[in-house]
Amino acid sequence: MALKLFNTLTRSVQEFVPLDPHGKMVGLYCCGPTVYDFAHIGNWRTFVFADLVRRTLEFSGYVVRHVMNVTDVEDKIIKRVRENKTTLREFTGKFETAFLDDLKALGCREPHQKPRASEHIPEIIALIEKLVARGMAYQAHDGSVYFSIEKYRGCGCHYGQLLKLNLDEMRAGERVASDEYEKESIADFALWKARVPDDGEVFWPSPFGEGRPGWHIECSAMSIKALGETFDLHLGGEDLKFPHHEDEIAQSEGATGKPFVKFWLHGAHLLVEGKKMSKSLGNYFTLRDLLAKGFTGREVRFLLLSSHYRETFNFTLDGLHGAKTALARIDECVGKLRDVAGNATAGPDSKLVEQFSAALADDLNVSAAWAAVFEWVRETNKSIADISLSASDAAAALAAWEKVDAVLGISAKAEAEVPAEISALADDRAAAKKARDFKRSDAIRDELKAKGWVIEDTPKGIKLKKI
Ligand code: AMP
Ligand code: ZN
Repeated sequence: MALKLFNTLTRSVQEFVPLDPHGKMVGLYCCGPTVYDFAHIGNWRTFVFADLVRRTLEFSGYVVRHVMNVTDVEDKIIKRVRENKTTLREFTGKFETAFLDDLKALGCREPHQKPRASEHIPEIIALIEKLVARGMAYQAHDGSVYFSIEKYRGCGCHYGQLLKLNLDEMRAGERVASDEYEKESIADFALWKARVPDDGEVFWPSPFGEGRPGWHIECSAMSIKALGETFDLHLGGEDLKFPHHEDEIAQSEGATGKPFVKFWLHGAHLLVEGKKMSKSLGNYFTLRDLLAKGFTGREVRFLLLSSHYRETFNFTLDGLHGAKTALARIDECVGKLRDVAGNATAGPDSKLVEQFSAALADDLNVSAAWAAVFEWVRETNKSIADISLSASDAAAALAAWEKVDAVLGISAKAEAEVPAEISALADDRAAAKKARDFKRSDAIRDELKAKGWVIEDTPKGIKLKKI
């Protein structure tokens, strides 16, 4: 089934066709974290969305090259390095490691490449030199190098591809040095920022003098190096459309004269209890905050995957409790299927896989995908209760679940391993019951409970379950 995605570039849902003439390889770049703090759950919504896109492409048979940069040179980072009287590497290294740990806890597949801006200074300088040579960048009196929107447009290039901009109000030559600015202040933006005392030790030599790159040029240089001058997909949160992604397009197309990216995908933002997350409102959560409250990465992932990526998502702690319950239903169903299937094997049952694929192919319609999963849980539970499911039916259902879970990435837990001491106690209890020594059998049951295990009597004999 053809995969359709909403392309911000065309403002429409389009069939995804890769650039690869063999229709197999796909290049995907997602703007990575700015490593100046622990990532918050808003950031995680975007990275889990990127993981969903990658897994859906892989599920559809493509071979994906997933690149996610690490922004380790940027205005906010330099400010914090100065405040903390530390070095860039020491400061960013800590948050980069934490980010990768959290990525794993959320069940995201690790990107194939994670380029750091600080390790791509030569590529960044080379790209700026190209822009200077093509007349689209200039060095200002402050020593910094700026991108000229006027010259870029003068060459017939289009500034404002991702969103409509009022360029008539722009004053030629007006400049903005900061990495982040509003739509209202469209202006020439910094590619190379001349060294100032506040930068401390964060600077590199360049043909334009000592300094450091702007944030936007970093992503152009790293994505082009990893995936070529034109590639398939570029992702990020919706706040990155302007100026970051618009500037990436301008720099890249200005330097290469080729279209930069075929599909731009943007994830909508996350709110907490209906409000923009902020530390002062006390509604700001990192993944670590949620783990400390006793939730798991799997539950957070489930919740973040529960709504469509183009809709604003309202995160609540109640929602997270709901995720726990929903996952328990899936786990229980899959656990029972494993019992019934025993050692039987079978190819995947087609109904769930077909409904699930159709939902995802429709611009990642996760609501329909989850509806297919929970309908399958309901029907499967019913067949198990009716004892109408054979071992091979159960194996086929499990195989279907595994295919679907390759996209969802929530892998229902396999039965917890039973320690030898616990199974010995269970054997003793069975022997006591057989000998009709109910006092002893009850005492063993209580002992097991105190150790965190319960015994369930099933038609196939007893089963030990972790509480
Ligand atoms: P940053 O580390 O600030 O560069 O952000 C990393 C990613 O998180 C970017 O793609 C942002 O667009 C995204 N992001 C930031 N805040 C939110 C939010 N509240 N909801 C969803 N995504 C966000
Ligand atoms: Zn970027």
